[in-house]
Amino acid sequence: MQTCFHFHGDLVPLLRPRWRSGQPIRLPVTRAASIKDVIEAFGPPHTEIGGIDCDGRPMDFSCPVGAGQRFDILPVTAPWDVTRPTLLRPDPLPGLAFLVDGTLGRLARSLRMAGFDTLSNRLWQVPDLLRTLAREPRVLLSRNLDLLKRRQVVFGRAIRAEAVTAQLREVLALFGIAALPRALTRCLDCNGLLEPVAKSDILHRLEPLTIRYFEEFHRCRSCDRIYWAGSHVDRMRRTLAA
Ligand SMILES: [Zn+2]
Repeated sequence: MQTCFHFHGDLVPLLRPRWRSGQPIRLPVTRAASIKDVIEAFGPPHTEIGGIDCDGRPMDFSCPVGAGQRFDILPVTAPWDVTRPTLLRPDPLPGLAFLVDGTLGRLARSLRMAGFDTLSNRLWQVPDLLRTLAREPRVLLSRNLDLLKRRQVVFGRAIRAEAVTAQLREVLALFGIAALPRALTRCLDCNGLLEPVAKSDILHRLEPLTIRYFEEFHRCRSCDRIYWAGSHVDRMRRTLAA
C-alpha cells in the first residue's frame, strides 16, 4: 500500500530532481520514520515547512508515517511571525534576530545596515553555529540545506537568491518587513550597537573630506568603528524602495 506525499508551493524546487514535477509522490513505506525524516529525505529542510496535514489533520514533525496516508506538506509563508507559537514550532523567538552562516557574509552586513541584530563570523564552522543557536535562539540564514536539517536549528531559511540585494529582498519579504529600516543602529562589522558621538571628540580620526562634508557621527560601542551617513545609507534605501 502506498503513502502519498504532496509538496506545495516553493518547496517543490527544494525537492531532489527526480521528485520535482510538483505532482503528488506515491511510495510504499518500508520502515518506521517520522514525517520530519521523510520530508528531509525528499530534499527540503524542516525549516522550510509551514504546515503538515495528514489526511486533512494538522500534525507536528514527530508524526509517524504509515501506509495509505496522504500528507500535504506546506511551505512557510510570508509574513512569517517567529514570535508566535505554532504546532510545528511551539517555542517562539523573543524577537526577530538572525544568525547568518559564513557564505552569506554580505547579506549579514546588509541586514545590519537595515538595523537587524545579525550574528555572523566567516570563521565559524557548523559546531560554532549550532552552539550559538543553543545559547541564543535566532533565525539561521544559510544556503547549506544539510545544516538547516540539523535538529538544533528550529528557525531557519534556505536563501534562494544569488545576488545580495535579491537576498535582502527575499528576507524582508518573508518576514513581512515593509517599513524603512532605522539606518545606523548596528555596526556592519561586529553587530554592536551604535551611539551618537560628537564630531569634536573624534576629529583626529577623520579624513579631511569627511570633516568637511559630514556633521553627524556614530560610534560602535563594541569595536569603536566610526560611522557617518554616507552613500551606503542611500543605497540601502534604494534597495528597500525597489
Ligand atoms: Zn563594531
